[in-house]
Amino acid sequence: MSGDTPASVPEEAPEVADDPLLFLEEDELPDIPAYSDGGFRWRVLMVDDDDEVHRATAFALRGIDIDGCGLELLTARSAAEARQILMREPGIAVVLLDVVMETPDAGLALVQTIREEIGLNTLRIVLRTGQPGYAPELDAIRRFDINDYRTKSELTQTRLITTLTAAIRAYAQLEAAVVNNRGLSLIVRSATELFRVRSSHAFASMLLERLGQLLSCPSNGAVCAGDSVDDDASASMLRVICATGRFAGSQERYVEQSGDGTLIRAVRRCRAARTVVVDGPVVTLWLGSMTRDAVACFDAGRMLSDVERRLLNVFATSISAGFENVDLFERLDFFAFFDPLTRLPNRARFVADVDKILLADRPAAHCLAIADIVRFSDINDALGHRCGDALLMAVGKRLRATVGVQVIIARISGDAFAMYGDPTHIDADVIRHAFEAPFFVHGHALSVQVRLGIVRAGDGHDSAAELLRSANLALNEARQAGGVTSSVFTRAMSEEVRDRVALLHNLRAAIDFRRGLAVHYQPQVNGRTGEVLGVEALLRWRGDYGEMISPERFVPLAERTGMINELGQWVLEEALERMSDWRSRGLGMLRMSVNISPVQLRSDEFVDRLRASLQLADVPAVDLTLEITESVGLEAHEALSTRLAALRAMGVRFAIDDFGTGFSSLQQLTRMPADLIKIDRSFVADVARSSSDRAVVASIIMLARSRGVEVLAEGVENEAQKHALLELGCDYMQGFYFGKPMTAETFDAWLVERNGL
Ligand code: C2E
Ligand code: CA
Ligand code: CA
Repeated sequence: MSGDTPASVPEEAPEVADDPLLFLEEDELPDIPAYSDGGFRWRVLMVDDDDEVHRATAFALRGIDIDGCGLELLTARSAAEARQILMREPGIAVVLLDVVMETPDAGLALVQTIREEIGLNTLRIVLRTGQPGYAPELDAIRRFDINDYRTKSELTQTRLITTLTAAIRAYAQLEAAVVNNRGLSLIVRSATELFRVRSSHAFASMLLERLGQLLSCPSNGAVCAGDSVDDDASASMLRVICATGRFAGSQERYVEQSGDGTLIRAVRRCRAARTVVVDGPVVTLWLGSMTRDAVACFDAGRMLSDVERRLLNVFATSISAGFENVDLFERLDFFAFFDPLTRLPNRARFVADVDKILLADRPAAHCLAIADIVRFSDINDALGHRCGDALLMAVGKRLRATVGVQVIIARISGDAFAMYGDPTHIDADVIRHAFEAPFFVHGHALSVQVRLGIVRAGDGHDSAAELLRSANLALNEARQAGGVTSSVFTRAMSEEVRDRVALLHNLRAAIDFRRGLAVHYQPQVNGRTGEVLGVEALLRWRGDYGEMISPERFVPLAERTGMINELGQWVLEEALERMSDWRSRGLGMLRMSVNISPVQLRSDEFVDRLRASLQLADVPAVDLTLEITESVGLEAHEALSTRLAALRAMGVRFAIDDFGTGFSSLQQLTRMPADLIKIDRSFVADVARSSSDRAVVASIIMLARSRGVEVLAEGVENEAQKHALLELGCDYMQGFYFGKPMTAETFDAWLVERNGL
């Protein structure tokens, strides 16, 4: 607040009084002059509680002519009276105001009334006081725009006239500015306008235009501001957000790097002073807010007058809140459309930007990609969120650096980034290569892979949302394929998904309303004797239009959504009820095989529920075989082994389903408890013709025997297959050749007929 005192504050020490005419003897004083002619006169209000001062002043000012016009002297004897006059009388140019009147600060209080209550801003105020040393606070002078301050003894006639002349000229200029639609009214209007704009660029450009108008000169200016959302406003570098005239070359550059010495100096000074700084023809206005530093620099090309300086002060105050306003809007905008962590656009912004491009010229050659970080949650869990955040920022940066500035890039969810642009820029191989180098985050060197789902624009996609959906499908495809790190969307993916969603929806209803679901039973026989040993329960679902939906389609879906737990439990209960029914009717002691999904085995409740169901149906556990696939063995972990052990302890038997198709079957067999191996029907199909399939089947049988495990061949459809299997020593069989899966009633009838009961 030091070197830039406003023009209204007296700068030099009071001079020695030269012609002390003011305080004349009573008789020398003339009457208050009546100002003659009917032309325009400057209206001056003299406020003083001392009649002598009134007379002396009137005397000193008689016949005075300022810039071609005489004076009209109005008088008040108290602040209260002055207030009345000021409210009533228009066009008062100057108030000569006594400080000490009815109260020691009545004059100062009146100043506040004039400026703030009555709102007379062009009116010039000259404070006078009889007591030297009783000076108003400097900041009161600044605050209330007081023109001059003099002790009465200083106000010699010459001095009084000089002071009054300066004040009247200032008033005239302010008024002229108002009349000419520049100056104050311009300021007022500008302030209103500037409050309406929503972007800092629009604000800056309007501001520079108005400054030119205000100073009646070409617009040579630059508005510089810190980044919209910065942690430390005062430390950030200011960027030229809008520039005109001779500063135009600095547009968009950092001030310090603009190479413009005038601009750099002016901005530095203004940032330090945080107020209006006038340096010769160059004025700098402070526009900053709590959160964002901002400065407007303007070169008027000539020295600025006092009035102009004052106007600039008024201008700066009235618009500074405007910039804060704009800043607020931009910040709101930022948080609505940007991810504050990576400072990349967010999903909403990405969608809007891409939609704009799609609407504009439908560039079929573009593509959209979603990149997600492989196993990001593991890193997050292991190293903490701060580390995860830092990694996300680094990944965002690396992606940006890899794909270049032409590509639109956004963070669309937790660990997923989206990119849109030319396929030559969004190249899966280039991106994969870019991620080979580790990330150094909080002292950890992290190897990170990104997985890409890519979709070409066009290709039936009308919007960013559709493209994102398709890219996501492709991403899922890549995710499911395990080792694959990128996948390009194809039509088939979306059809599959559409069907899948509808299917899930219907399956939910089927489960909830027990609609269309049934369990069918397929016999398992001794191929040599034809004796029925057991039965496999197979789930059937008939859709709303009577169509049969294969369990191979809906079971995986039910597994992915967890619905398999309910569904499987229901199958189990149905099957156990059948068993007890057959027993009660003496239809034979058939073993029941029920397919159990690995998902069911992951649930803690499975064991208890099964135990309860067995008790309810009152059938021996040993007659129940749970068919599980080899993949269960793959996820061998402690909880699963305990569960399997608990089931075995209950007496339940296990069959390994589809044996031979899984990974490293033989190895798994050592890990999994099994009583029965079901040779997959793919080996059975050609067992009569293909020696290699025969070899596979033979080795499975050998292996099973060596472990004391039973073997069943699935999918036996004809006599030849049956014979081949019998030759290899596999008697236990299941397949259409012996019996297709049947409803419970049909199976009952089939069993009765077969057993000749
Ligand atoms: P899976 O356990 O291997 O069941 C045997 C499948 O082979 C059944 O198909 C059956 O109808 C079929 N099949 C039986 N004999 C022959 C034959 O001679 N030739 C041919 N080509 N096929 C034969 P389905 O019923 O369509 O079941 C398919 C798969 O769905 C089952 O394979 C099983 O993995 C699963 N699944 C069926 N029901 C359930 C269930 O209740 N729970 C669970 N988790 N999965 C089930
Ligand atoms: Ca099975
Ligand atoms: Ca099977």
